[in-house]
Amino acid sequence: MNAVVEPAAFARTRRLVVKTGSALIVDDAGGIRADWLDGLADDIANLKARGIDAIVVTSGAVAVGRWKLGYGKRELKIEEKQAAAATGQVWLAHAWIKALAARGIVGAQVLLTPEDTESRRRHLNARATVATLLEAGAVPVINENDTTATEEIRFGDNDRLAARVAQMASADTLILLSDIDGLYTADPHRDPSARHLPEVGELTPDILAMAGEARPGYSSGGMVTKLGAARIALGAGCRMAIASGKVQRPLSAIEAGGRCTWFMPQGSPASARKRWIAGTVEPAGSVVIDDGAVRALERGTSLLPAGIVAVEGVFDRGDAIRVRDRSGREIARGLSAYASADVKRIMGRRSSEIEDILGFRGRDEIIHRDDLAMTNAS
Ligand code: GLU
Repeated sequence: MNAVVEPAAFARTRRLVVKTGSALIVDDAGGIRADWLDGLADDIANLKARGIDAIVVTSGAVAVGRWKLGYGKRELKIEEKQAAAATGQVWLAHAWIKALAARGIVGAQVLLTPEDTESRRRHLNARATVATLLEAGAVPVINENDTTATEEIRFGDNDRLAARVAQMASADTLILLSDIDGLYTADPHRDPSARHLPEVGELTPDILAMAGEARPGYSSGGMVTKLGAARIALGAGCRMAIASGKVQRPLSAIEAGGRCTWFMPQGSPASARKRWIAGTVEPAGSVVIDDGAVRALERGTSLLPAGIVAVEGVFDRGDAIRVRDRSGREIARGLSAYASADVKRIMGRRSSEIEDILGFRGRDEIIHRDDLAMTNAS
């Protein structure tokens, strides 16, 4: 069975995240596979020429760095891994930047911790940086900030990091390039009757069971972590594919109908983002807005400082807050682009005055419409 579920795989894609595992990009002796990287960079250039934003999530820092530091293949202690990452990341980023530059594309290194993508508070900064890079036509090349992350606060596997990046950037497509071409009903290396699944609509217990047991001491790269990534991606309205990266032009291969497994979400990234914001359990504070601003929000615009009449509570930039009308009724929730102290100083004023009042130039909006979810529309 080799059904082509996505005849034009990237036809509806506007923003794509592609994740590559260490074993694809780094050889057994710590060398970066420049030819393979060139093939993937060709694919990325091709997508960008069609107007698709591309974001890379790349592993390989530890795999390169362990050889540079003379550790070879042996098991590493956490501080040795971090030293290896600090060493290898420079080479990895350089290889990417070079491969992209050869195709006229600017690459930019972004190192993230889970906090940067998972907490609403930190999320706006990382999102804004990635959005600004994409607007400028650059390709963000992302890895975990392995050097400072401690064991408990690490992503630990770049499958999950890639899914969080897709969510943060409101990407509509995530491709996990792997050494296997998708999900099978059982482990195909052990069970000859294992069937390949071209498409998964829902992560049912049956599907989750197909990943098998996580092997002890085997934290990253397996099917279990890939299904974990699928759960995050689908929740963010982003479709995801697990595909083989063991070919020269892996994204072209998917487009040509190459075997892979697609996980299909219910909603869109925009609607999922609004659900995520609306679902904040304990908003940090509120702003009260005038009737004109209420009508403007109901038409789908952003919240500007001019419409705000009061600020309640103490919150930071990036925190989720309530938006109330003059009667105190909650009408929306959103991520504030300013801390409460700053909102107090600029409320009722025009956006063009923000810089004069605060001394720095932030966003024109207090809550951008992409970061705003109506919770009680009349
Ligand atoms: N961040 C790690 C690295 O670049 C890889 C994590 C993973 O293998 O998923 O070496």
